[in-house]
Amino acid sequence: MTTIVIDGAAVVTVDPERREFIGHVVAQGNRIVAVGPGPAPAYDGARVIDGRGCLVTPGFVNTHQHLYQWVTRGLAVDATLFGWLTTLYPVWERIDEESVHVAAQAALARLALTGCTTAADHHYVFPRGGGDLLGAEIRAAAQVGLRFHPARGSMDRGQKDGGLPPDSVVEDRDEILAATEAAIDRWHDPAPGSMLRIVVGPCSPFSVSGDLMREAAELARRRGVHMHTHLAETTDEGDWCRETFGCTPLEYAAQLGWTGSDVWFAHGIHFDDSEIKQLGQTGTGIAHCPSSNARLGAGIARAADLRAAGSPVGLGVDGAASNEAGSLVEELRHALLFARARGGPQALDVRAALEMATLDGARILGREAEIGSLEPGKLADLAVWRLDTLEHAGIPDPVAALALGTPPPLALLLVNGHPVVEHNTVLTIDEEALATQVAKTQHHLTTKPSST
Ligand code: ZN
Repeated sequence: MTTIVIDGAAVVTVDPERREFIGHVVAQGNRIVAVGPGPAPAYDGARVIDGRGCLVTPGFVNTHQHLYQWVTRGLAVDATLFGWLTTLYPVWERIDEESVHVAAQAALARLALTGCTTAADHHYVFPRGGGDLLGAEIRAAAQVGLRFHPARGSMDRGQKDGGLPPDSVVEDRDEILAATEAAIDRWHDPAPGSMLRIVVGPCSPFSVSGDLMREAAELARRRGVHMHTHLAETTDEGDWCRETFGCTPLEYAAQLGWTGSDVWFAHGIHFDDSEIKQLGQTGTGIAHCPSSNARLGAGIARAADLRAAGSPVGLGVDGAASNEAGSLVEELRHALLFARARGGPQALDVRAALEMATLDGARILGREAEIGSLEPGKLADLAVWRLDTLEHAGIPDPVAALALGTPPPLALLLVNGHPVVEHNTVLTIDEEALATQVAKTQHHLTTKPSST
């Protein structure tokens, strides 16, 4: 069993006492075995890492992403959500196993380089003949080495049914439910320490039928898996829900069984006070995606109000087509800056933002007993950030340096006890070769004539 000792670092545990100190963290196999102030005890045969000048945090949890979009970045750059979607759907109908595999490797490598150890994904475009797309991204996550919670997403409300997506990218409801259940049978690992858990993820009210939403919730609860969808991202969506269903997006979702601690919504921007109270009381989670929301001009979620009400609020980069950076540590900074721009200087503090990136994200995925903080017995998922270079040297509070400064280089990223990043380089893939493949794949997808 490998033992890794990180010594002499600033450590922010996010444990129940929120301890912070200059000290050590020790990982043995896939578990943390010691965390505390001062020098580490001696471990025979351990690899010792000099943590001076570094900050150790729990590994970050990304709660919303569409990995496949890494190869469709930079399109419809000045559009609204609905305009952006209608431009992108015809490109997305051309994705296949190979393009999704390339995109997922690149997006996951970028997440690793920005502190992410557990990634949720939401894949909802399954063009006919596209192959095993969920399998392609699961393979990519295993190659890069991240803990992975992919949602088997879906769309069944095409334009002929009053939905937004073209009929060529929607699936039949029974096919969707069967494929989702098959994904759970094939891949879902409920065991402690799991590297892979499946999520049920119909895409959004405007691309999915009410029957699918309801039946997907029943399926998720029968199989004991979590549920995820987009909700309340834009005012256009709110208007569409009121016109189509005569109620708000949250009222609609709640009627279909979509509230509870096993549910989390991407974005959750346009909620009123009573809706925030309802989300808190039911323990429903929110994936806050500040960069994507700003890129599409959708608004800013009331993250602090949601947390105060009792909702776990995690951070998400969202798909790279609406956030070309795909950097999880940058979401920390944007969550802080945008919350303060919206609600004043007290709206969100740096440690709350770090909790959103770590423990809240773990709660959203139902993994708070295993990840999200640095405590003996938890899984060895952690990030070691370099704060002694020109960018951060001299900033006295390391958490402020991480949250307010430029994204720091990573000295080390451990996932399940394995080094995935060292010296700011991903160990598990060839970044340069992958970049070439990404460019080729994007060119292929965006220049090939549409079949429709
Ligand atoms: Zn999204």
